[in-house]
Amino acid sequence: MSEFIVEAKGIRKTLGRGAGQVQALRGVDLSLRRGELTLLMGPSGSGKTTLLLVLGCMLAPDAGTATIDGNSISQIDKEGLARIRRDHIGFVFQSYHLFPTLTAAQNVQLALDIRGERGRRAAKKAREAMAMVGLVRKAKSRPAELSGGEQQRVAIARAFVANPSVILADEPTAALDSDNGRMILRILADAAHERDRAVLVVTHDPRILPFADRIVEIDDGRIVGERRGGPELARMPKTAAFP
Ligand code: ADP
Ligand code: MG
Repeated sequence: MSEFIVEAKGIRKTLGRGAGQVQALRGVDLSLRRGELTLLMGPSGSGKTTLLLVLGCMLAPDAGTATIDGNSISQIDKEGLARIRRDHIGFVFQSYHLFPTLTAAQNVQLALDIRGERGRRAAKKAREAMAMVGLVRKAKSRPAELSGGEQQRVAIARAFVANPSVILADEPTAALDSDNGRMILRILADAAHERDRAVLVVTHDPRILPFADRIVEIDDGRIVGERRGGPELARMPKTAAFP
């Protein structure tokens, strides 16, 4: 068995039509291990979101191969992609995407509901996920009654509640201040290290660097660099970390 839980090779994706066509991904190789938090960094428009959507089985690539937890996404129909997504992937978005009329706990439980898991067992799982992000006391609050950081923690609980092996987060701290951003990354790093998930976080926030085990750089639809991260990175001057 491969040591990688996500293994993508030669991923290409063109978006848009006619004169507006863009080669968003031009042959990307990227693999993710369990127990590791990988940061994907790159300028605006470099293909980060597109790559996340392909790895998360929300967008089929034009070319290339990927396996997610042993499942190949090549030659697979829409339902097959949706099944891999449902069984293996958790998503966290920059803008939380919570339902405003539901409580925090109901938002989390909804992720189980759409998988056919209901009743007391589902409620218990939702409570555990809320505990993981430190929000048990806010279970009955609605999104408007929560801070941005709390809303993002609810979104993380929702991403985790169905026990996915891969968590994909697209700029999860972009709308947050430093303290809240750090808390979100702490939770995602713990998920990787203590719960043995593969976590991929898209960011251009250098404050996040200390949390990374590995940093991958993308530019213009291609992977252009990779380095190990880790706590020592925090102590290094920025120019040494990114020569
Ligand atoms: P990033 O997340 O790194 O900012 P994206 O993956 O969103 O980059 O976009 C990569 C490139 O594809 C950009 O040039 C962007 O303008 C283009 N793009 C994204 N979505 C579409 C779309 N639906 N139609 C046409 N071009 C798109
Ligand atoms: Mg993006």
